[in-house]
Amino acid sequence: MKKFAFALHGGAGTILKSAMTPEKEKAYRNALSQALSAGESILKHGGSAIDAVEKAVIEMENSALFNAGYGSVFTHDISHELDASIMDGNGRRAGAVAGIKRIKNPISLCRKIMDKSEHVFLLAEGAEAFAREEGEELVPESYYSTDSRKEQLLKIRDSLKTQLDHADDQLKKFGTVGAVALDTAGNLGAATSTGGITNKRFSRVGDTAIIGSGTYAENGVCAISSTGWGEYFIRCVAAYEVAALMKYGKMSIEDAAGKLINETIPEMGGDGGVIGVDQGGNITMPFNTEGMYRAKVDSESGPQIYIYR
Ligand code: ASP
Repeated sequence: MKKFAFALHGGAGTILKSAMTPEKEKAYRNALSQALSAGESILKHGGSAIDAVEKAVIEMENSALFNAGYGSVFTHDISHELDASIMDGNGRRAGAVAGIKRIKNPISLCRKIMDKSEHVFLLAEGAEAFAREEGEELVPESYYSTDSRKEQLLKIRDSLKTQLDHADDQLKKFGTVGAVALDTAGNLGAATSTGGITNKRFSRVGDTAIIGSGTYAENGVCAISSTGWGEYFIRCVAAYEVAALMKYGKMSIEDAAGKLINETIPEMGGDGGVIGVDQGGNITMPFNTEGMYRAKVDSESGPQIYIYR
């Protein structure tokens, strides 16, 4: 069999073993494993990288555990605004959305924008109008809401702070989801989806919606999906920075992603992590927080799921 490789993340942040119950840890491991096998089964049957990343992200958008789709965080005005993007390394095609309030699976809408429109990036109502035309599943905004996310907001709503997800009381947790893949035909793909950050102002757009920051894929180079403090990931064009270090700096994916996460982002004052895969199927998953929900599998080794450092 030709080589495939697949990795996903469910956000980075202050994920401490001491703060985790065995039940909660099991629930996260099950959700990661389900999303991983959804992508793996596509790749192992010769399916495309782009189908695998979309499918795995849909699985995580449908889980209340992650800050994407159902279970997304609340904005300051007690509403939801979701961001997502997808990129096919084959032809460097891409689709992205921001400020979504009515779409069950924002990543599928990104895929439709990429495949069926002449555009890359659609915003809020315009994106939703396109979704209606394309028969994408719509939901009331309340579909995304869960009690635990509301509590997170109410704790900090009166402060000026925004909170990155998976946080109980610290300000350092992220819950965005993403996936990267190399398929047996040699194509790379990446996808990322999020509710953003708790208590964000209306109309704030994070890195997850931005091709080159939250998501990037280019055949022959790499596929990357980011999670972390979006403003910093936008300012250093994070996902593309890894690709550029590889393409022009001739770095390995491990060194390039490591430099971004251990030098560039923290030197600017930000934090988070990325997952990446290169043309040879090498996977890297660096992060500079206490933990990152992450998992990987490839044609040579079985599934591996990790949470802590
Ligand atoms: N990067 C996302 C954002 O800033 C947050 C996250 O990764 O959880 O919107």
